[in-house]
Amino acid sequence: MEAERKTLNDREKMNELERIRHSCAHVMATAILRLWPEAQFASGPPVENGFYYDVDLPHRISPDDFPRIEEEMKKEIKANHPFEKMVVSRDQALKDAESGRLGALIERPGNPSRFKIGNLSDIPEGEAISYYKNGDFIDLCAGPHVMRTGNIGGFKLTSVASAYYKGDERNPQLQRIYGTAFKNKTELEAYFKMLEEAKRRDHRKIGQEMGLFTIDPDFTGPGLPLWLPKGGAILEELEKLAKETEFAAGYVRVKTPHIARERMYITSGHLPYYAESMFPPMELNEGEVRNKAEAQPNASKYYLKAMNCPHHHRVFAAEPRSYRDLPLRLAEYGTCYRYEQSGELFGLMRVRSLNMNDAHIYCTPEQFADEFNGVNEMYLKYFKTFGIEKYVMRFSTHDPSKLGQKFVDEPELWIKTEDMVREVLKTSGINYVEVPNEAAFYGPKIDVQVWSVIGREFTLATNQVDFAVPSKFGLVYRDSDNTEKTPLCIHRAPLGTHERFIGFLIEHYAGNFPLWLAPEQVRVLTIGQEEPLVNYAKDIVRELRTHMVRAEGEYTNDKINGKIQTAELSKVHTMLVVGPRDMAANAVSLRVHGKGNLGVKPRAEAIENILTSIRQRGG
Ligand SMILES: [Zn+2]
Ligand SMILES: [Zn+2]
Repeated sequence: MEAERKTLNDREKMNELERIRHSCAHVMATAILRLWPEAQFASGPPVENGFYYDVDLPHRISPDDFPRIEEEMKKEIKANHPFEKMVVSRDQALKDAESGRLGALIERPGNPSRFKIGNLSDIPEGEAISYYKNGDFIDLCAGPHVMRTGNIGGFKLTSVASAYYKGDERNPQLQRIYGTAFKNKTELEAYFKMLEEAKRRDHRKIGQEMGLFTIDPDFTGPGLPLWLPKGGAILEELEKLAKETEFAAGYVRVKTPHIARERMYITSGHLPYYAESMFPPMELNEGEVRNKAEAQPNASKYYLKAMNCPHHHRVFAAEPRSYRDLPLRLAEYGTCYRYEQSGELFGLMRVRSLNMNDAHIYCTPEQFADEFNGVNEMYLKYFKTFGIEKYVMRFSTHDPSKLGQKFVDEPELWIKTEDMVREVLKTSGINYVEVPNEAAFYGPKIDVQVWSVIGREFTLATNQVDFAVPSKFGLVYRDSDNTEKTPLCIHRAPLGTHERFIGFLIEHYAGNFPLWLAPEQVRVLTIGQEEPLVNYAKDIVRELRTHMVRAEGEYTNDKINGKIQTAELSKVHTMLVVGPRDMAANAVSLRVHGKGNLGVKPRAEAIENILTSIRQRGG
């Protein structure tokens, strides 16, 4: 999808790295023109992780062409030309475009800069029109740029794709050349090393090798993962963690159906606005009308739930509530369904069925700060458990000029809730940034970004403050002054969805899960298959399993080194090797995946250590 045209104000906000990358797009165009002077350029913005420039050219550019394009780019960077800005009139710009001078090194009579003419027409009347010039290359561009081409420290062209001009398939198809650039070569190299490591840790690859999940497009359908027993074990552990943590924090658990009537989602506001992201409705033929609800239009239409909130709101509404019941924290590992475009589906990262670590906290405005703080503390606790060292909370607020359009028209509630959120974030010392104009329709939201151990960024979860929907559902509590009031609602899901979070964890741990999460926690391996020895090993497995440890036994006559190697390859966390001497001493030889042989331990001590590590959710 093409981004909207950036305003001058948005462009001014481009950070240094984005300026370097966009400047590098100009340098790439310069280089391509030296090789193919007839090239016609369209747009070349910075994007996540790099930049691109769209070009129309009879020659089909392939990665084989990259070295010589890069060679020319190096020359332009070495020349260290300044990026000179020139403000021109619309007439002048049009004249230069007609002569083929824009997005070019020279005038090109008979070959007008046709995409630049199109870009020019998108610039609103009254907005300044500017060129940027480096060496002989002049481009129609609003900037901003770095000072000189020499400020581009390290760059690399990465791929070619095709794209329609302005993203419209009625327009000509162009070649989109992607590249990336960094402040210096060290950062560039670190980036490609990280990508290589990410490839090695690809959750789809490791997930398959370890037998964690599968996607079965022919029978189950695309984007609908099937959790295999080993993935199921991780999922169970995460749910256990969430249940224990939430129980301690005063949450109560509910269980709600996967579908609901159309009326539910009209009330919640998901329909019609969110309809594209929901599975199409099921039409039921329920025969006679039995009650008032069924007499309503479309009462026989049911939808798969895309979010748990409306169901939880109905749980709130199920009983009369007084201020004494608040805060009410309703939690559920809810399964939601979203109709993602098939082209967008990606392993566990983009799916159509999601198990969400969901909860909704209903509270009074006076309780809000404590509740919101509690949610943040829960995040920090989880980050510690999973060794997540880098995170940021993106606090999205509203834009007062868009009240009633993009944001629900409640000016006072917006200011009040945003102030409350900001205050909590400030006083708790949490790492956050404020992003104006990106709130949800119903209230301010916080997106939580985390970085895996190899430095890749993931969006983990979203928290949202909702001051509008509870009233649409008629949710009220009786306050101490005996009046009815509408509660605030905090949506939160610190562990995100199983799908995304386990995808993240696979990369984060490269599949080498800590003991408490490891699908197979312990394997007991016998040296030989003498009956008393096998019985000793089986007894250890039995003891571990009575303590809910996922333990297996390997009692074949294969060579012990081969058995160990097999266990290491399957990333079994702890191996207990037993031979006749271990048995005689009521002991085990302890091995830990990736750490090697840790020596002989008394059986009771080894088991106690395993149980303690699992209980503490340690390595
Ligand atoms: Zn530019
Ligand atoms: Zn919600």
